[in-house]
Amino acid sequence: ATQILLDSRPEGMPTADNFKQTSVELPAITDGEFLVKNLWMSVDPYMRGRMIDRESYIAPFQIGQVLEGGSIGEVVESNNPEFPIGSRVSAMHGWRSHYVTDGSDHTRLPQIPLSESHFLGVLGMPGMTAWTGLTRIAALKEGDTLFVSGAAGAVGSVVCQLGKLMGAKVVASVGSDEKAAHLRDLGVDAVINYKTTKDLSAALKLAAPQGIDVYFENVGGEHLTAALNNMNDHGRIAVCGMISQYNDTTPTPGPNNLAMLIIKKLKIEGFIVFEHWDHYPEFAQQMGQWLATGAVKAEQTVYEGLEQAPAAFIGLFEGKNRGKMVVKLN
Ligand code: NDP
Repeated sequence: ATQILLDSRPEGMPTADNFKQTSVELPAITDGEFLVKNLWMSVDPYMRGRMIDRESYIAPFQIGQVLEGGSIGEVVESNNPEFPIGSRVSAMHGWRSHYVTDGSDHTRLPQIPLSESHFLGVLGMPGMTAWTGLTRIAALKEGDTLFVSGAAGAVGSVVCQLGKLMGAKVVASVGSDEKAAHLRDLGVDAVINYKTTKDLSAALKLAAPQGIDVYFENVGGEHLTAALNNMNDHGRIAVCGMISQYNDTTPTPGPNNLAMLIIKKLKIEGFIVFEHWDHYPEFAQQMGQWLATGAVKAEQTVYEGLEQAPAAFIGLFEGKNRGKMVVKLN
């Protein structure tokens, strides 16, 4: 099997040198085990945090160890009746071409009319994150104005679409005009390109003169400052991520306008999607219907070949993806 290890811990922006491709001989499968050939793997921003040696909600990656992450594979040899040859499985065994397992922490995937890769995106962790943040954390309601940063990505593109379905006015921030145009095509009411905007607070005021009721935070830093300046009284902020800070080598100063929390009587709440996973069946059923009727469009960017996985991962911090960034293994 071919696999990719963490070779060194990134300092600042990750580089190709932080990764190393190796090959290993896999053992033959024994009773209860099966061999999986990976078809797809996920790269996600949270993996950058796991490359730092620190305590967090998920254990750090170790140098010299195979990286991990969401994966979709096909069973190609099996001594386990629950996972016969040909089954499609999802697991956390990305960054490798093949592996042997006893099936613990594996889920057999149902057949869907879309590519199974969407179980890594709109039907998986990022889609569930968007839905959880809007419905369970921010309690978005019809008529609200929703602001979402990182809006063209895996989570953000679902937040935008669910926001519209839930009857909100949606204002989005992205890093390119092409992404902005695409979001307008998806029905987003106003889009800011933060890279060509000098004053984000002023741009947001123009885009949402009525103010913001819910901010879905994916980026942090200046985006949070701008959102705080434009929130309405009793607004809610769901803090999902702060990707602008993941490669920082020194701590980013906090927003200088946190007093807005008091003045506007705001609620701000961080969340980790895995704590809400007991609601996944409810989400998956709804999302399945939305996808089937075309109410939600599944967006993804595909890099081909396991050897492209580091580039796909680094690309997340360069805005290379629209929708979910996935790697197709060959
Ligand atoms: P995305 O698909 O959104 O990919 C990352 C995107 O972030 C890029 O395409 C880029 O788009 C944007 N970006 C990168 N660097 C910066 C920067 N310095 N400033 C502003 N934007 C930047 O990733 P996900 O949808 O998977 O994740 C989005 C956020 O949600 C992340 O912060 C992630 O950590 C968080 N998350 C949190 C979860 C939770 O449980 N709390 C679960 C899943 C994700 P652009 O071209 O617009 O700059």
